[in-house]
Amino acid sequence: MSNTYIPKHFAIEELLPPPVFLPDAFRKAYQQSREKLFRLFDYRVLVTLDRLRERYGVCTVNNWHFFDASAWNDLSVHMFRFSGWRPFDCPEGVELSEHKFFRAMDCKFKHTTPPEIWAELRKNKNAPEFEFIQRIEAFEGMSWFHFDMGQHGRYDKAVKVLSGKVDRAGLPQFVEKVA
Ligand SMILES: [Zn+2]
Repeated sequence: MSNTYIPKHFAIEELLPPPVFLPDAFRKAYQQSREKLFRLFDYRVLVTLDRLRERYGVCTVNNWHFFDASAWNDLSVHMFRFSGWRPFDCPEGVELSEHKFFRAMDCKFKHTTPPEIWAELRKNKNAPEFEFIQRIEAFEGMSWFHFDMGQHGRYDKAVKVLSGKVDRAGLPQFVEKVA
């Protein structure tokens, strides 16, 4: 029996960028037995993905594997490549993004908007899908739900809300977890 948590609802391709962006050691594993690579991810991230998927329905993280391989490297062609793990020289996101440490995901739900999920987090903070989440990002017009397990001063007591450039979409800086 495998010791690795294998998500029920996500293939490894959805959580990694196209092979061309993988370091050699990862690419080798990807070509040989790619499910091994789930072990790279924080266990809580994988469990949370499944729980969110079960609560909110169809969810896309990366979708590059539906595109022709010749376009993977062409960043002018829009597709989701870096919504899961990101390489250190990734052209997207901030320098020390939790994505680079296997602790963050950007979820695009087909039937649920980020503000709906934020509202539920504030109302029902003890729901299982929020159990492990430590930080989220929120700003007006955001089309994806970012969550991560990054640490902060109120770890496990509150979810820290990271703002966009100017706003937090009306959310407080911390959403209390403990009643
Ligand atoms: Zn993100």
